[in-house]
Amino acid sequence: MDALNLTEKTDWTFIEQFKKESGDNPSLCYQCGNCTAGCPYTHYFDYPVSMIMRLLQTGQKETILNSKAIWLCATCETCTTRCPCEIDVAHVMDVLRHIARRENKVAEKGVKSFYDSFLKSVKLFSRMYEVGMIMIYMLRYGYMLSAAKLGMDIGPKFLTRGKLSFFPHELMGNAEVARIFKKYRKMEKERAKK
Ligand code: SF4
Ligand code: SF4
Repeated sequence: MDALNLTEKTDWTFIEQFKKESGDNPSLCYQCGNCTAGCPYTHYFDYPVSMIMRLLQTGQKETILNSKAIWLCATCETCTTRCPCEIDVAHVMDVLRHIARRENKVAEKGVKSFYDSFLKSVKLFSRMYEVGMIMIYMLRYGYMLSAAKLGMDIGPKFLTRGKLSFFPHELMGNAEVARIFKKYRKMEKERAKK
């Protein structure tokens, strides 16, 4: 784990942008550490989630957006349920990931590609199609080895339990899913104009 780096000048614009976009108020955090204590992924993070909160309070934009933690967070929401100040900490991590993505700062490219493969699969098949997602991950983003290893590790177990299908599931609600993607693209365009 890296030491807390508070060397950047406080970026007040970033703090305000974050508050506006998320609706969360990081200044409520009093650094009790409950979120970090319950976080199952904290051992992999460069900054534990409570430190991310502190970095956010102090407007350390570059440190946050270049951190691995925001990409390695699994959105399990343990931090949210443990926060005595009722901060939706998992949502904080999610919004930071969105901002980092927009600013093309991706400390964990494999994770971003995995998310993109998932979204591409949902866009194409209107729901999760695991084999298709792994194929997109392998072919489009070049993660041949890791995807093949993942397939070999979990594939047989999932197949024997009927959790994995070689073929896409029946298409349902594709018009609604297409509308969601369209609405999101429109929102992103509007945000980019501001
Ligand atoms: S949502 Fe993310 S930061 Fe929060 S406990 Fe889960 S993995 Fe950790
Ligand atoms: S649990 Fe809440 S108050 Fe405590 S450090 Fe985490 S975000 Fe801050």
